[in-house]
Amino acid sequence: MINDDTRHCVFQRDGYTCRFCGHVGNAVTLEVDHSVPVAQGGTDHGNNLQTACWPCNALKSDRKTKAFDAWLRYNFASRAHYARYTAAARANGRLPNVDRWLGNNPPSLVDRLFKDWSLPAPHAGRWGGSGL
Ligand SMILES: [Zn+2]
Repeated sequence: MINDDTRHCVFQRDGYTCRFCGHVGNAVTLEVDHSVPVAQGGTDHGNNLQTACWPCNALKSDRKTKAFDAWLRYNFASRAHYARYTAAARANGRLPNVDRWLGNNPPSLVDRLFKDWSLPAPHAGRWGGSGL
């Protein structure tokens, strides 16, 4: 179990930035994720804890970070493309169906050309402009 002190330490270390979509949030929109899930042998040590926004944490579910990263790269064209999905989830208050969302929100030319999966530096700003 992660206590509040640990939560805030992890958020602070990670610049209140979601490790997966780059959302810069707060103690309400962010959660502490186990990189390797506890059920798969992960611990509560800081090196296994990371900041994730609630849509990313919900989508990652019981997967390891490595497996979730691979799934993201398979389904989305770029970090910014994926960040638009999590922004939609935050706006809706629930996770949109991924296949339907992708059908309605194809990657832009920039997403497809650059396939940029780099994360923004903490506090460097937001992804993709509006709505995040
Ligand atoms: Zn996220």
